Amino acid sequence: MNEVEQTLVTRPAHFLGPWDLDARLASVPEVGAGTVVMVESRAKGRALPWHRKKLVLVLAAQRHFAEELRAAGHEVELVRAASYADGIREHVARHGSTRVVALRPRDVGMEAALVDADLGAPLELLDDGGPGGHFLLNRDEFAAWAHGRKQLRMDQFYAWMRKRTGLLMEGDGSPVGGKYSFDADNRKHAKGVTPPARPGVAPDALTQAVIDEVESAGFGYGSAEGFAWPVTRAQALEARDRFVEERLAGFGDYQDALIEGEPFLWHACVSAALNLSLLSPHDLLEPVLDAYERGDAPLNAVEGFVRQVLGWREFMRGVYHLRMPDLREANRFGADLPLPGFYWDPEATEMACVRDAVRQVHDHGYAHHIQRLMVLGNYALLAGIAPLEVSHWFWSAFVDASEWVELPNVHGMALAADTTFTTKPYAASGAYINKMSDHCKGCRYDVKQRHGEDACPFNPLYWDFLARHREDLASNPRMRMIMGHLDRFGEEQLTAVRATAARIRATHPTSPASYEFHDDQG
Ligand SMILES: Cc1cc2nc3c(=O)[nH]c(=O)nc-3n(C[C@H](O)[C@H](O)[C@H](O)COP(=O)(O)OP(=O)(O)OC[C@H]3O[C@@H](n4cnc5c(N)ncnc54)[C@H](O)[C@@H]3O)c2cc1C
Ligand code: SF4
Repeated sequence: MNEVEQTLVTRPAHFLGPWDLDARLASVPEVGAGTVVMVESRAKGRALPWHRKKLVLVLAAQRHFAEELRAAGHEVELVRAASYADGIREHVARHGSTRVVALRPRDVGMEAALVDADLGAPLELLDDGGPGGHFLLNRDEFAAWAHGRKQLRMDQFYAWMRKRTGLLMEGDGSPVGGKYSFDADNRKHAKGVTPPARPGVAPDALTQAVIDEVESAGFGYGSAEGFAWPVTRAQALEARDRFVEERLAGFGDYQDALIEGEPFLWHACVSAALNLSLLSPHDLLEPVLDAYERGDAPLNAVEGFVRQVLGWREFMRGVYHLRMPDLREANRFGADLPLPGFYWDPEATEMACVRDAVRQVHDHGYAHHIQRLMVLGNYALLAGIAPLEVSHWFWSAFVDASEWVELPNVHGMALAADTTFTTKPYAASGAYINKMSDHCKGCRYDVKQRHGEDACPFNPLYWDFLARHREDLASNPRMRMIMGHLDRFGEEQLTAVRATAARIRATHPTSPASYEFHDDQG
């Protein structure tokens, strides 16, 4: 073997998961310094009834990225294999790689699958945060921040991140505008306001071929037709720029608003691209801060957006790694009902708000944050749906979902099944949805009624939820007022409310989906 051949066979294999699609990551080698292996895993593809748009997103983004790396001079193999580990092992055998280099996978099941597998060469895992990683913080930095804190508070974490990064901070160390959060200003409803159009991306030939492939495979949920999510960095940057130009200014005011038939409103619609690393957090934060400097967007919008990316996203990822594997089993309220069928089929419910949100998930693989939290999550919380069933649905049906981000959001935030950071559940009756949306006026149910056939289901379920968990919730000072309200219900009213809730919980349509899921083995 000559010297050149020797160098070739000893080059490491660099594994890039479908979530590592950024040439700036430390797991991408210098051109010529190693081979790149990417895998389309059959096990992963069949692990849950994935939304077809999510299958298209991941496959098209991976294939585009492989082409981009090849065009830049990299030696790239994109293989289809039984699992990620099998694909890597086969690549290692073909190339005689002496090492496998990868960023730590974000989902712990995936990491365990790689660590436990015989890849044919030693595995070197790099942190997925900090310099060379995707996240702003590395895992130890979050763990150090969390260490010794009884309860993890996002507002405290966010203030710490603002100080640490200097983003939106004055020279004297105080927050721009005098406070860290302008959330209280960001609760306008948008009734009568026309939201801007959402920029869609027309599929190119490669993406169209993936759409055809996914449709003909006949597997999955929803439809691949009408796919319009960015699948390359260039498309993602363009989508980001349109958000900054057209929607950022209204992002704060209407952050919590809901409008019938309007899936995207003033939201950025960047989570899918961000979670695949087509964009980095800095790619989003910098132009948003520039828009503020130019005077093109108000502080409540800019701070609100910064809080999502610098605060919530990093916080959720930190909580996930801190709380796994227990987070997966968390079930503070002992919720055990199966997922109602209307989570898969919007036509299976007459609740206008739920039907609209599920339609959007079905059509786009997307619903905005308030639909996820205060409609879909809130219903599951109030009705007592088993957390893992809810979590698997969110993971399957949303284009931006991976376990590291859906699980803390579902178990931690929406269902308060885990108390690491949520002691007061985000539970609300129909009155909240009525205040923030235009759904109720066209709904078959009456948002003012608390019990009976025509009562908005959120109402009896809300009071029944408080009554069922009275002991647990009454100890929370922030729940005292509402529990006092429950205490003033007369015996007759409470019985009627609870009977309506019991009927609703007993008569959910059953779920059409059948799937097996055994952790994330990739
Ligand atoms: C029950 C539930 C499930 C969720 N599941 C996911 C998920 O699977 N994947 C996901 O990326 N987000 C999830 N979220 C968080 C949030 O709803 C989405 O990030 C957001 O709706 C994505 O749309 P957008 O890009 O238009 O976001 P915008 O509203 O424009 O916000 C900008 C960005 O902030 C980040 N962000 C905001 N809130 C959160 C949060 N709570 N956690 C993490 N990142 C956040 C996202 O990256 C988002 O793209 C979930 C929230 C809830 C309540
Ligand atoms: S009445 Fe209740 S179910 Fe109907 S849209 Fe309003 S909140 Fe939703």
